[in-house]
Amino acid sequence: MAIRIDGKATAAAVRATLARETEELKQKTGVTPGLAVILVGEDPASQVYVRNKKRGCEEVGFLSREYRLPGDCTREELLSLIGELNADDAIHGILVQLPLPGHLDDKEVIEAIAPQKDVDAFSYGNVGRIVTGDYDFVPCTPAGIMELLRAYDVAIDGKRAVVIGRSNIVGKPMALLLLHQNATVTVCHSHTADLPAVCREADILVVAVGKAGFVTADMVKEGAVVIDVGMNRTEAGLVGDVDFEAVEKKASKITPVPGGVGPMTITMLLRNTLTAAKRAAERK
Ligand code: NAP
Repeated sequence: MAIRIDGKATAAAVRATLARETEELKQKTGVTPGLAVILVGEDPASQVYVRNKKRGCEEVGFLSREYRLPGDCTREELLSLIGELNADDAIHGILVQLPLPGHLDDKEVIEAIAPQKDVDAFSYGNVGRIVTGDYDFVPCTPAGIMELLRAYDVAIDGKRAVVIGRSNIVGKPMALLLLHQNATVTVCHSHTADLPAVCREADILVVAVGKAGFVTADMVKEGAVVIDVGMNRTEAGLVGDVDFEAVEKKASKITPVPGGVGPMTITMLLRNTLTAAKRAAERK
């Protein structure tokens, strides 16, 4: 039976460290990390995420500001707000909650954020830095997974890692982070031939597909570490992409849903913001 990787406990431990480092930064430099979150429109899921980000900031001692713009706000209004926050020394991280309403261009908006304040690491410049391995900010979900692997002593160097999913926010950066740690990485997607056979080669299997129960026990090698990124709302509640009950019997370590990867994501956003504040303090 697999060891359950406890994302809640790991996130709490990382946040305690962040709170301590934040206090040290304040004492030494007078800088308080500040995160600005911009929410456009009334999407209920986005509102929950924004609330959780605010709560996270408070927990570790950050300044947190929330900007709510109406769903029909203009491109100019949004870009002007980002421009003001780029110039605001109290703010070290700027996050625009995605997805934006259809009349706004996500890419243009992300590119408007100053690179040193792009704590989601979604801008082309920061993505390029992740590709080359020369980065300050790491996309939050893959960063959270790397932290879980570290916390549970999962060896990565020389191992076979398979990532199912190639999205820009999870699959691709996940593959790069594993590659930087010397895993031999295969990225799978909806055109992959004989996916179960590829998955069975994995020592570490990361699943980011968005389909409940997608990975079954026959796709998992005995003793593999299985990371379930999926968040699927079903009649039975929130479930992942992995058939947890069956796969738990075969894996050596596994993340549950909820309580696995999810709690780490905002924690990594906080870490990126603290990094941004430290860099700003160095430039002072
Ligand atoms: P996404 O952009 O929809 O990407 C899904 C990926 O799965 C795509 O690359 C797609 O392949 C691949 N896929 C779909 N069907 C497949 C199949 N039959 N065989 C193999 N691959 C298949 O999703 P995402 O944004 O990466 O998110 C994935 C899941 O993670 C979602 O459930 C999301 O809610 C969750 N998530 C969780 C967190 C967290 O904090 N826990 C954060 C972000 C996302 P193609 O590219 O070929 O279409």
